[in-house]
Amino acid sequence: MQNQSTKVVKFGGSSLADAGQFRKAADIVRSDPARRYVVPSAPGKRFSGDDKVTDLLYSCYEKASHGEGFDDIFNVICQRYNDIISELGIEDYSLDGEFTYIRNALLHKAGRDYVASRGEYMNARILAKYLDYDFIDAADVIFFGENGAFDAERTNKVLAQSLSRHERAVIPGFYGSMPNDTIKTFSRGGSDITGAIVARAAMADLYENWTDVSGFLAADPRIVDDPAVIDVITYRELRELSYMGATVLHEDSIFPVRFAAIPINIRNTNDPDAPGTMIVPRAEPGTGRVITGVAGKKGFSVITLEKDMMNSEVGFGRRVLEVLEKEDISFEHLPSGIDTMSVILNTHYLEGRREQILSALCKYAAPDTVQIEDDLALIAVVGRNMVKNKGTAAKLVNAISRAGVNIRMIDQGSSELNIIVAVSCADYEIAFKAIYEAFREK
Ligand code: ASP
Repeated sequence: MQNQSTKVVKFGGSSLADAGQFRKAADIVRSDPARRYVVPSAPGKRFSGDDKVTDLLYSCYEKASHGEGFDDIFNVICQRYNDIISELGIEDYSLDGEFTYIRNALLHKAGRDYVASRGEYMNARILAKYLDYDFIDAADVIFFGENGAFDAERTNKVLAQSLSRHERAVIPGFYGSMPNDTIKTFSRGGSDITGAIVARAAMADLYENWTDVSGFLAADPRIVDDPAVIDVITYRELRELSYMGATVLHEDSIFPVRFAAIPINIRNTNDPDAPGTMIVPRAEPGTGRVITGVAGKKGFSVITLEKDMMNSEVGFGRRVLEVLEKEDISFEHLPSGIDTMSVILNTHYLEGRREQILSALCKYAAPDTVQIEDDLALIAVVGRNMVKNKGTAAKLVNAISRAGVNIRMIDQGSSELNIIVAVSCADYEIAFKAIYEAFREK
């Protein structure tokens, strides 16, 4: 069995929102025998304005925990599953027993995570039945430790053993169990993490993540018209872009597969022929576009410190950073001049304690002047092919200047994987567009 090709396929909520979507997902699974392990989310939105089953379950929990009636919402949930079952034409199958059990659990103050996890649990039961795959309960194979942190090693051991006993199986996403056997979920969107964990344990050749977009976009479609889909991106590039706000995958889903060097393929359930985006451990530099993607965020501030002869004062930087460390502040960038040092940080760190931070900096670092400016936006231009490629920074700076925007800070790491520019928030969209357009052709 080890030599057989194995793909782990995860379907997001919109890919399993109703019977029509279930059919598409099942066709995808059946069209490739390597798709042996399937990880579903709970039913998501069928149309804009619709409810996700997970949100409905949280609402039931809130009502039940305040002693209020929750039947109206609970019945909507039951109806959604019943519609899927009947429209799929699964004979002699019913989740009525589960509904009764969960309703009782709610009445008897079941935990919030347990209630939320039932969305994935029931969807996985239906999908296993429809595909004629085995069902493996995530509670039996995915574990958290006493402190609530995911227990990767125990999980990998037990899950790998379990998978080796099942040729084909459906494993619900989003949850696992605590040492006292209660259910715990990952954070929202956590079925992506389950998929990655299963891929690692199965030693899969590929982790396919089926969603409702045809891959990872090279820029924010709210700012740029019709951005390209990235065909290949490395884990490191993905990390840079996701950090700056571009998301398709749950952040924590990268680690298990990156660790095992398994590529991820983002695919679109509604356009299964589109190749999507391949996320790979490494790609040969020199193939593909110079820029892989552009991402950015507003809401940063800069603290600027000036001191005569700062360049020859030993320990100045350390004292500044110590103040931030004591305040539990992490910073983004640290551009410095001869006699100036700037710290760029998320503005939320300053809320309610600007004076305190300024006076601590004055006390410990004794600068000549110190000031804080807000309203900065950061834009990251990321690309593995920027390494040793001449003219990228020039092109970027030219594009921004032609757009009439002033660059407040520019920072290129020596890894040459990214260039970060800071502009005023008011200029963010203009600069973003100008940068993306300048690199669109290549
Ligand atoms: N159903 C969960 C949520 O809505 C987990 C997931 O879909 O990945 O967050």
